[in-house]
Amino acid sequence: MRDTITKSDWLNAEQCLSMAWFGLRAAPEAPRESERFRMEQGQEVGALARALYPDGTLASKRDGKNDAAETTRNLVADTAIETIFEAAFRAGPFAAKADILKRQGRAWHVLEVKSSFSNTSKIKELVDDLAYTVFVIRRAGQEIAQASLVLLSRTFRRGDGTNLLFEIIDKTTEVNTRVAEFEGTADSVARALFDDTQPTPKLVSACRNCAFFDDACLGSGLAHTVLEIPGLHHTKLKRLSAAGIVDLSLTPDDLNLNEGQKRAKSAALSGNMVVEAGLAAALKSIVWPCHYLDFETVAAVLPVYDGHSCHRQVLTQFSIHHRESIDAEVTHSDYLADATKDCEKELAEALIEALGHRGSIIVYSTFEKTRIKALRDELPDLAGPLQALIDRLVDFEPIVADHVYHPDFKGKSSIKKVLPVLVPGLSYAGLDIADGDMAITRFARMARGEISGDAVAVTRQQLLDYCKMDTLAMVRLHETLCRL
Ligand code: SF4
Repeated sequence: MRDTITKSDWLNAEQCLSMAWFGLRAAPEAPRESERFRMEQGQEVGALARALYPDGTLASKRDGKNDAAETTRNLVADTAIETIFEAAFRAGPFAAKADILKRQGRAWHVLEVKSSFSNTSKIKELVDDLAYTVFVIRRAGQEIAQASLVLLSRTFRRGDGTNLLFEIIDKTTEVNTRVAEFEGTADSVARALFDDTQPTPKLVSACRNCAFFDDACLGSGLAHTVLEIPGLHHTKLKRLSAAGIVDLSLTPDDLNLNEGQKRAKSAALSGNMVVEAGLAAALKSIVWPCHYLDFETVAAVLPVYDGHSCHRQVLTQFSIHHRESIDAEVTHSDYLADATKDCEKELAEALIEALGHRGSIIVYSTFEKTRIKALRDELPDLAGPLQALIDRLVDFEPIVADHVYHPDFKGKSSIKKVLPVLVPGLSYAGLDIADGDMAITRFARMARGEISGDAVAVTRQQLLDYCKMDTLAMVRLHETLCRL
């Protein structure tokens, strides 16, 4: 077990004390490739923010002999040093690093660099993140006069100077309020986290994505839990939590579940798949020939192509399986952009050509519709034909969600949950690229020149294979739904 409480432990504890308690005891896991890519981008943004302060000194590089906290103490004591990067502080069990620490007389200005836009809806979380850093530095004996977030500007475009990339937003007042609240709970939180006994767990929204739910915490030993009720409103979750109900079989009858939720509950408790009679009528709305469509995109914190904003999502790839009738042979067409340039217009033209004028375009989720709408709005010359494609879209996800439920869906209707149950023979296991995050990462690495030479052709084939599998999955799913 670790003996240090880090920022992520603290922020976890804010959501659920038990989650942080398990986190302190969990063996560290190597990040996946897409997570590594996200971390690298965060480091890149941090380095660009540091360039705004050319007089700064990096605490970790200054002194190879001492640990980061000791090096920071030396830099803080040296009044000739105006700005410190990645200053490390420790106060009792609490540890934190300040991205940028700028001297302000006898006190300091703390600046935390984040890859979010300056008008992010998650500002409350970012304030907590900054407040934890301030809390630790103050406990370590330093005075903090000002606290700010360094966030990305929405108006920045690739090609603009780095001075236009960031917006510095003063959050001193909000941070001071939160630090006072943290001070009130810090010692009891630390005691609970280092106690041998797990804090009493309580059903909260965070349980939905908690890595400890199934095996170590509230879901452990239960065949089905209330988290399998699709779209359960947070007020109902709170009511169940207050009553200590996690087991789906104990859900009270007066919880007023809707039809889909009742279907999920009865299927889970009976162990049988439920197929509603309306499925046949829903499938009859599909017009042959069918075109099964899937997109892939690239997106990175810093813009990939000239003139683009940060976080801009760019369509890079499509796969389409075509079929004249449910018994006919399938044919396939696809497109993969040249990663060295923005090819969205070329992709849009190829898409219109490949989908022709007849038949339904089958997708799974609203993603393809959103992306075609974005293309329509960006490319006025192609707006008419692109709108015609939108009018032909049929989304399988609501058809499945409204008519089919298997206990192994676990309350979800995403393709990743539905496919292994309804098309068990189809597997992504042998593919080098086997999920959307990995596809984004590999394409971005090609666009940034981090994959080059012979490896480009290999990566392109892997991307084509992955996207093709996604649309083949829809072909097989359609066959299964027709059989059902
Ligand atoms: S399952 Fe819920 S209560 Fe248990 S650790 Fe996770 S978030 Fe906390």
